[in-house]
Amino acid sequence: MPIVGINCKYRGNVSLQQCLDCETEVCNACVKTYRTAMFQNIEYRAKMISASMIFSCPLKTYLYATTDIYEDIEQLHWGSWRGSLIHGMLEKCGELDEEFLTEKRFYMTIKGVKISGKIDSLRYTKELQIIQGEEGQVFEVPMFDKTQGILYDYKTTAKIYKAYLPNEEHVKQLSIYVLLLKKAGIKVNRACLFYIDGKGTQPVWSGKDFEIIKQGKLLEMMAPRLKVLQKMFKENKPPEPEVSFLCDKKNKNKVVYCAVRHLCPAWAHEYKNRGKKQ
Ligand code: SF4
Ligand code: SF4
Repeated sequence: MPIVGINCKYRGNVSLQQCLDCETEVCNACVKTYRTAMFQNIEYRAKMISASMIFSCPLKTYLYATTDIYEDIEQLHWGSWRGSLIHGMLEKCGELDEEFLTEKRFYMTIKGVKISGKIDSLRYTKELQIIQGEEGQVFEVPMFDKTQGILYDYKTTAKIYKAYLPNEEHVKQLSIYVLLLKKAGIKVNRACLFYIDGKGTQPVWSGKDFEIIKQGKLLEMMAPRLKVLQKMFKENKPPEPEVSFLCDKKNKNKVVYCAVRHLCPAWAHEYKNRGKKQ
């Protein structure tokens, strides 16, 4: 199971619904609309391999898929609330403008392993066609070529450090999306990693700021990772942890981006005498 509830400092472990129904108004998330928006973005993680899992820590993926997780509400804030904002933006964009394909999940099978990936948005290539009206008027009508376009992937971050963009993991993930689209008959002409922080935005473009990883090399990089993920789901056995900046507390604010760190053998020494998550 994924995140099923909140590890509340006032009420202990509560389900998401109990937290939604809570009227105590003692915590910083006391506004119900805010909690509703945050919880909407919590996705059920089925035992299916997604593009975002392939290059992340496999133990984290395993524990997110198999453990009931109670997350701190403050930890959820940054990821989930921002995710809900982006989701709202893409939903509106997809509804209002036929130029965009938004939040669509694609599938492919590589060496017998089924992989899925949900793209943020694809902007179809547009051409203006001249149409003549019955009385000789001339209209310019946009025609969309739904077999090609520009792929956008939105990334929210606490602070944009331009010199460090794009993040290597994001390029790998984006390259998997390009491959998923290719298998579905859609050609990506350009791709953009669009970074957003509290102050502004920074688009980073393929062909200019980075290169999409070519199919052969990407498949080579994916092969050993897929093997580990497939084995762990098949045998239901936790794989080895892969410690990174997401959990080593070496970033400026010592923020941890892993809700299962307290279950991870790599950090067992930190939780030894505490008996609960930090
Ligand atoms: S609203 Fe706040 S106090 Fe109530 S259960 Fe949720 S986190 Fe705890
Ligand atoms: S704490 Fe780090 S190494 Fe452990 S599961 Fe989480 S991401 Fe992986």
